Amino acid sequence: MKKRKLIILSLDAMIKEDIEYLKDKPLVKKMLNDGVWIKTLKTIYPANTYPCHASMITGCYPNKTGVDTNFYQGTSTWRAERDNIKVKTLIDYAKENGYTTANVFWPVLGGDKNIDYNIPEYFCGADCFKEVLQKHGMTEQVYQDIVVPNLDLTKGYGTAGGFYTDDFIFACARDMVLKYQPDILLIHPCPLDSQRHQDGVFSDNVTKRLEESYEYVVQLYDAVKQIGEEDNTDFIWMSDHGQMTIEYWYRFLVNFKNEGLIETDKDGNMIGGPVKATPFNNSVKIQVLDNFVYDKVKKMLDDDIANKKGIIYYSKEYAEKEFHTPGDFDFLVDSDGNYGVGREAYPDQLGNIYSTYAPGVVKKFGEHGHSPEIGYQPTLIAIGPDFKQGVTLDRVETVNIPVTLAKCLGITMEDRDGVVLEEILK
Ligand SMILES: [Zn+2]
Repeated sequence: MKKRKLIILSLDAMIKEDIEYLKDKPLVKKMLNDGVWIKTLKTIYPANTYPCHASMITGCYPNKTGVDTNFYQGTSTWRAERDNIKVKTLIDYAKENGYTTANVFWPVLGGDKNIDYNIPEYFCGADCFKEVLQKHGMTEQVYQDIVVPNLDLTKGYGTAGGFYTDDFIFACARDMVLKYQPDILLIHPCPLDSQRHQDGVFSDNVTKRLEESYEYVVQLYDAVKQIGEEDNTDFIWMSDHGQMTIEYWYRFLVNFKNEGLIETDKDGNMIGGPVKATPFNNSVKIQVLDNFVYDKVKKMLDDDIANKKGIIYYSKEYAEKEFHTPGDFDFLVDSDGNYGVGREAYPDQLGNIYSTYAPGVVKKFGEHGHSPEIGYQPTLIAIGPDFKQGVTLDRVETVNIPVTLAKCLGITMEDRDGVVLEEILK
């Protein structure tokens, strides 16, 4: 029997409104008419890229995947290696069942032995691609066949955080389809996320990135047509998280510092004190290390909420039950949907309690990492032989997606948090 093919494209920080913008473009129109649209996905908490992608490839929450942060503890080193994920992935199941597998920049899959053609996500420029990627699972064959012909596309880009190599990523995925015809292909470009971080959720540049991305997706889908697999390929175009536009941060940790709850060094790094704060992009885990100050911490947070300062918090019990958020903490402090609270909340980087992004600069920008219930929401469209035609669902949990896609391959993933979405399958 002919094996089904599956492409999962994760366009980082794409939101429902992007699909609405693109809905009359030929490929999107076709996918909406002939396939499935899940308007909003309920992602995981924290809604950061690496934890999200670990969930998107396993169907499990962070307390099972083991990936609840982008970075290794206390560092700014990305958790890029596959062994960060503590459960079997869809790739592992696919490989066990005889499928060939490929990846271009899907996070947390560095060194994955079950990926036949792997260009893992590492943030280094063209000069270090060969060295770093080969150390983490890219074969010489993939380097010569796929990377070298597209290496020019990486010129002029920065490294982590800025615009990177999105046209390179799309080109490599397209070429892998044409050259290797893998059964499973994962791809993760990031232009929308990068632009939204700079501008806020909507801007002319964001629209430009969206239009460019659409053209790249068309090229990828055309490659599927070229190899004659259009009718045998389930093609998923989804995203990991949304973003929200932020104009002001509420820097509640400054108050903590002023009250002696947090100590910092001269660079603003937290080095001690009776409270430990772990900021994500747009939320902060607070762990009370000395019970003596617990009531004080709670009162400060409660007062901020009562005075509508821009934050809310969840208890550990609530966060574990509702969001399956692992780790040692007492309060999970989140944005109220208007203010930013996380990444820029390090006390000494900041002059005042309410502030714009940089002193004297009024600038909108975008952020994620808050609760999955606030901000603009991630989305999914899909087309292929296993999907019903013209089905639209309003909201579905992201952990259901990999489990559902496994079923398209005739695979049951055991012991998952997600369930199969029978209502979208034929
Ligand atoms: Zn992301």
